[in-house]
Amino acid sequence: MTTGPRHEYYLLTPGPLTVPRETHEAMLRDRNPGGAEHIGMTRDIQDYLLQICNGTETHACVLLQGSATYGVEAGFQTLIPKDGRLLVIVNGFYGVRLREIAEAARVDTTVLQLPTLPLPTRADIEAALDADPAITHIVLCQAETGTGVLNPVEMVAEVGRERGIKVMVDAVASFGGVAIDVAALDLEAVFISPNKCLESAPGLAIVLVKKSSLIAAEGRCPSAVLDLHHQWDFMQKTGNWRWTPPTHVVAALAHSCKRHAAEGGSGPRLERYRRNWSILVNGLRQKGFTTLLPDDVAIPIIATFNDPADPAYSFKDFHAAMLNRGIEVFPGRLTSEGTFRIGVMGDLYEQDMQHILAQMCEALEEIGVTLPIGGSAKTMETA
Ligand SMILES: *Cc1c(COP(=O)(O)O)cnc(C)c1O
Repeated sequence: MTTGPRHEYYLLTPGPLTVPRETHEAMLRDRNPGGAEHIGMTRDIQDYLLQICNGTETHACVLLQGSATYGVEAGFQTLIPKDGRLLVIVNGFYGVRLREIAEAARVDTTVLQLPTLPLPTRADIEAALDADPAITHIVLCQAETGTGVLNPVEMVAEVGRERGIKVMVDAVASFGGVAIDVAALDLEAVFISPNKCLESAPGLAIVLVKKSSLIAAEGRCPSAVLDLHHQWDFMQKTGNWRWTPPTHVVAALAHSCKRHAAEGGSGPRLERYRRNWSILVNGLRQKGFTTLLPDDVAIPIIATFNDPADPAYSFKDFHAAMLNRGIEVFPGRLTSEGTFRIGVMGDLYEQDMQHILAQMCEALEEIGVTLPIGGSAKTMETA
């Protein structure tokens, strides 16, 4: 097997990430936002994204200029009525962010604050809803990238259906990797991103919205640029975006959708990430490292490792030594201090992972860490 880098620079953050060269090449041309090619690409993206989540009949795919968070705020402002109340399930950094977005958007919010583990249970959700009958909507992260936990979206959606409460999902990190059936789960909105499992360039927010709710939301959004109904309605009628679209980013995503289909869709893509994740996790475990999470709750798009106990270790030095090698690693988030994170999404295959692993070991020894390490913090318990 050939070894060595396939990329000059590896961006191993939880998105944006290492984008394939062909996808960069799709951006090398200027396109007219009103031209047939751009309009066709926009349609193709919408159609493909709805198709892979079984939303073609029931949902609309709204594209918005901005990062994924713009879509979350737009969703809250467009879909939650003035007299609504949002339950935010928080068990990590991105849950905290959902709460902050809701508060900034002046949405009445109730927070269900939970630890990283155990995972939220049906009893947790039911108790929160029982305690606050005013709740009309629930939002949670599917993949909590702050720690790498995969949350039980199906269970929460089921509780929502039973009680007539609308469920919104931040699937920003997971969409395109973890399959989600928006029709069967009857989801109100799903927030997604081009620059995570879809492996494309950043610059777009994408919201999959239940069509009947979107139509009912006409005129509700207090913001001009974040109005999902207006954005969708205008695009339906004219084919155009309301304001200048990120034409290069759209071209990249149209290409990325084709690559996603060619790989076989979300299932095979996640399997590739799982192989990447196993190479990395098994390799570092052999060097004495421990993961923050037990394997059964960890989504294989990012691996979170406990810092080594070696006094020579600092994330800053490790990061710098890795960057010298053309590899960017990521620190832990406030909800999981004392960890570092390695994204395994993007244009990464076994050869890349072997290269990255070897470079990590070299970098650690370079900063004075003795391998195998004497120890690191324990993996968290599931229960
Ligand atoms: C990356 C990410 C986001 C959004 O990030 P943007 O910077 O707005 O693109 C939101 N939620 C989760 C879980 C994420 O991983």
